[in-house]
Amino acid sequence: MSIEAKLSHVNQQITDLSHRHQRPDNSVRLLAVSKTKPLQALQEAYQAGQRLFGENYVQEAVDKRQALAHLEDIEWHFIGPIQSNKSRLIAQNMDWVHTIDREKIARRLNEQRPDDMPPLNVCIQVNISGEHSKSGIRLDEVPAMVRVIQSLKQLRLRGLMAIPAPQESEQAQKEVYAPLHQTFLELAATDSMIDTLSIGMSGDLSAAIASGSTMVRVGTAIFGARDYATA
Ligand SMILES: *Cc1c(COP(=O)(O)O)cnc(C)c1O
Repeated sequence: MSIEAKLSHVNQQITDLSHRHQRPDNSVRLLAVSKTKPLQALQEAYQAGQRLFGENYVQEAVDKRQALAHLEDIEWHFIGPIQSNKSRLIAQNMDWVHTIDREKIARRLNEQRPDDMPPLNVCIQVNISGEHSKSGIRLDEVPAMVRVIQSLKQLRLRGLMAIPAPQESEQAQKEVYAPLHQTFLELAATDSMIDTLSIGMSGDLSAAIASGSTMVRVGTAIFGARDYATA
């Protein structure tokens, strides 16, 4: 199947799941996760109408953005772990960062975001399944992180992101998402810029869309399996 056909299939899935879970049309955006994939694959997706791309590795993301600079309406999202020594490249090249989980990184990105660029859109990464991941802050730490980010002029807080451990059933996955969704709704009610709940990957699209996702991050279902041996 071509990338165009796979993209169209994923978009149809999102539409169907939005109807099934009583979500408004177009309330879930698709982030195409293109890490390790060649430029050609991103160009094919772009030709098919895709505009949001997600990358995990800083140098790869910067190289791709520079090579595709003529496609001005691409929105570049950084979704990988952030090392402090890479924050400047992220601040200078990305439109969004989903993985803020340390105040120090937020402050560095704010300082390093060039003045002539719009504020960097950011999400706070939350760890909602305990031991599964070392990344992400606890839900009870979110309010303090929100206050820090809202005080930083070159960052614009857009919402919350999570990568929970896969569960046995959709019901179990929804239970993991419920407290995150609740926190997101409370935050969104206090700040009209907060409109993004970045949850849902190829394996849990239905549970995520049922749980209020506004941005799903899908790689394999669009671009095929990744080959890390040659990446
Ligand atoms: C790689 C990645 C994805 C996409 O995963 P697929 O299984 O390829 O759909 C989504 N989110 C994050 C944070 C990722 O690192």
